[in-house]
Amino acid sequence: MKSKVKKPKVPEVKCLICGKPVLREAIAEHLKECRGKFPLRPGTKDIEVFRIAVIAPAFLEFFLCIEIAGTKKLSELDAMLRDAWLECCGHLSLFRIGEQSFSVSPDPNFGDKDMGAKIGDVLKEGMVVEYDYDMGSTTALELEVLEVKKSKGKNAPRSIVVAQNEPPEWKCCKCANLATRVSTADYGIGYDTVYCDACAKTEFESGYEHSPIVNSPRSSTCGYGRTENDDEAAEAEIAAKAKADGKKRKFVIEQREGGIPHGRWVYE
Ligand SMILES: [Zn+2]
Ligand SMILES: [Zn+2]
Ligand SMILES: [Zn+2]
Repeated sequence: MKSKVKKPKVPEVKCLICGKPVLREAIAEHLKECRGKFPLRPGTKDIEVFRIAVIAPAFLEFFLCIEIAGTKKLSELDAMLRDAWLECCGHLSLFRIGEQSFSVSPDPNFGDKDMGAKIGDVLKEGMVVEYDYDMGSTTALELEVLEVKKSKGKNAPRSIVVAQNEPPEWKCCKCANLATRVSTADYGIGYDTVYCDACAKTEFESGYEHSPIVNSPRSSTCGYGRTENDDEAAEAEIAAKAKADGKKRKFVIEQREGGIPHGRWVYE
């Protein structure tokens, strides 16, 4: 079948301060203005607040903007990225700032530092920083410091996500209808790995081979976005197919290399 790979339109970004949708190109300016109307909490101490845009260079559909005080550590920024977009099962991550890498698990052989450095000591306005989550099935991000703003405050303000992309409308790579599923075998989300419900059913043997699309560049990588319900639905689908084919479900113990027994369900 002829492939119908199509990119989704780059979605608008939602400003989480005023709730309005804003064009991607206009979000930096919008946030400057919006922040003027909704300032940080009042106080007398001057605090530097870093406004940082986060993109996934492979997919311009995704966008995050974070505000974090200069007194906070890189580990807090790491935690925010994991929360918003990344965390599946506690992989390693690292920032590359200039020539220096800052890792959650520093390897002295590579000259890594840990993430204890303060944001204000290592970042500057205009700087672009690379960030990788998971050194195997890596999700690579790029951070740009849009603005460093002195704000009056009593304490360092809470670190917050101030803007995020609306969910992209992915197009099924087979029929160009709205895609809802992403293949789990193809290293995550991509223009040629997303399917509508109907095509996912015909293209894949079982629901284990595709995951729901979620609003993250890590969608489906290492099971990101997959829930127990998806697994139950996949299991039910396999059972229904087996029943229709007159097969029975049977638990078998297999001997694996090294003599470790391993049990699994089969239909025969
Ligand atoms: Zn706004
Ligand atoms: Zn994982
Ligand atoms: Zn389709």
